[in-house]
Amino acid sequence: MPELPEVEVTKLGIAPYIEGKTLTELIVHDGRFRWPVPSNLKKILIDQTCSAIHRRGKYLLFYFERGVMVLHLGMTGVLRIQKIQEEPKKYNRIEFHFGDTALRFHDPRKFGSVLWHPIEHGPIENFPLLKKLGVEPFENEFSGVNGTKLLYERSRGRTVSVKQYLLAGQVVVGVGNIYCSESLFEAKINPKTPAGKISKPRYERLAKAVQLILKKAIQAGGSSLKDFVHSDGEPGHFMVLTKVYDRAGLPCKECGTPIKQITQGQRSTYYCPQCQK
Ligand SMILES: [Zn+2]
Repeated sequence: MPELPEVEVTKLGIAPYIEGKTLTELIVHDGRFRWPVPSNLKKILIDQTCSAIHRRGKYLLFYFERGVMVLHLGMTGVLRIQKIQEEPKKYNRIEFHFGDTALRFHDPRKFGSVLWHPIEHGPIENFPLLKKLGVEPFENEFSGVNGTKLLYERSRGRTVSVKQYLLAGQVVVGVGNIYCSESLFEAKINPKTPAGKISKPRYERLAKAVQLILKKAIQAGGSSLKDFVHSDGEPGHFMVLTKVYDRAGLPCKECGTPIKQITQGQRSTYYCPQCQK
């Protein structure tokens, strides 16, 4: 599933081709997503100019004059920039033409979504799917003391494990399953610890770890940005060298203790029982 770093790199990759361009054609080959593509989307978007593409959580926001198109890649979605005359890849569900540039949304499993938020509905923050999201990991709200404060204060009295607390995305977005295990290792926190029992200094380490791990993943993706947007290969996670994730039984890179794998909330967690207390 594309995580925040993949979505961020997608944004960086497609923005130069789309921003400031006017939509000239929209073709829906198969709009039967989880939520169907609005039937009047072509009518709405045609001749409108996309002024900017932003990311909020794992949603891509395409700003047009009369509203914002909200796109989610779902489980298997990928956006590609191609020339309109180029043969589209398999599972090309919807394509947006900006002159001779095509933005194509390939999505084999169709868990993605393309929705429309008209300007009359007010700021995009009001959009129901965005309303409940935690703060952005690189925005001011999570930087420096703010991140520590947020993680600490929101967790008081919570008995849920710190792993599940972080993974829920209600405090800070973007810490998917891989990044969750890696951040907790970086911060030397045992994933089973109840969120409410973690001290402020430890949350300070965690807030920093979250930013560091996500930044590394985005950088890893950024170096392959051209391939990511143009290649015909399958999308996937960036080749991030993990320290604990998917390394069950292998020696910890710091102390040599075998990495443990447990299940929390039906998701795998990996950690070093020696380094993470
Ligand atoms: Zn260790």
